[in-house]
Amino acid sequence: MKLSKLASTLTPYTAGEQPKEKTVKLNTNENPYPPSPAVERALREFDTAKYRLYPDPTASGLRRAIAEYEGVNTENVFVGNGSDEVLSFAFAAFYGGEDKPVLFADVTYSFYKVFGSLYGVNYRELPLTADMRLDIKSIIGHADDSCGCVFANPNAPTSIAEEREALLELAEAYGEKPVIADEAYADFSHVRSMAGDVFTHKNLLVVKTFSKSRSLAGARCGYAIGDSELIDALRTVKNCFNSYPVNAVTAAAAEAAIRDREYFDKCVSKITYERGRMTAKLRELGFELPDSDANFVFAEYPGVSGEQLQNGLRSRGIVVRRFNSPRIKDRLRITVGTGEDTDVLISALREMLSGGSGQF
Ligand code: PMP
Repeated sequence: MKLSKLASTLTPYTAGEQPKEKTVKLNTNENPYPPSPAVERALREFDTAKYRLYPDPTASGLRRAIAEYEGVNTENVFVGNGSDEVLSFAFAAFYGGEDKPVLFADVTYSFYKVFGSLYGVNYRELPLTADMRLDIKSIIGHADDSCGCVFANPNAPTSIAEEREALLELAEAYGEKPVIADEAYADFSHVRSMAGDVFTHKNLLVVKTFSKSRSLAGARCGYAIGDSELIDALRTVKNCFNSYPVNAVTAAAAEAAIRDREYFDKCVSKITYERGRMTAKLRELGFELPDSDANFVFAEYPGVSGEQLQNGLRSRGIVVRRFNSPRIKDRLRITVGTGEDTDVLISALREMLSGGSGQF
């Protein structure tokens, strides 16, 4: 079969495993708690007769609810099928066809490279610092020889967040060049979201998701907040691809979720509490990991390979994520689940480590 030149060059993103059997699933940063009860109500009350029709192409109800939550205007909100789709449209809208590369870190969300390849975008990876922090100075230093930059804050898979002030300085240094802040995990961070900064920093696009803090990974819904000029550019790309941003059921579920602040706050604090407990227990066992600002931790055990640890856990029914790239191959990215999940994880690790590496 003769496929396109483009298709033959693509290496797609590999999503985390969705095992069929029962496991303790700590590999894709899903929320261990169900969505808000308001979501269930909205789905029960959904008028299936309306399913006959195409959804609202502007998703106006959902965008209004997001705008109210974020303190912006509806014209500053774009929604899509997961933040992956929103990010991919942003790559096409801001960096497609540019001569200069878009910059991002060498250790970050690996989908950025894939979006770059799909849209023929030049990209350049700048190394994280030795302690796995975003090298903000270096990104600022390269502003003139790039067409923009993308970062995740907190970064994935490192779990480390940078302070907002430093990132605002970065956005300023880029002037008119679009800067994307991927805030998939920001709801779990001590650092305030940059969504409120889009009026003072018109080149800043903040991308968020319903998949993590709002327990709606299965619904596929993400959004961007930005100046209306950036949002219009996203809409243009979207309308070259698919007229309808999110399906009608997802729009109803996401709107109900974002209006229930109380449930959201409770859920996020349960996860951040459990993150602290999990971090302390891992350190007690001898793991090394930075303080996490996300709903996962990024841990290594000196002297034992990441592969051994991952396989040992897998054989005990516990699934965690590992990225096979040189700098981070010995670290496990472990999602924060329920208290029970942590206990199962810790006792499996204790058993593995006390038996010596032969027992893994
Ligand atoms: N950004 C980052 C940093 C992520 O880890 C993820 C989840 N894989 C996403 C964006 C995309 O999430 P979703 O498409 O579910 O909104």
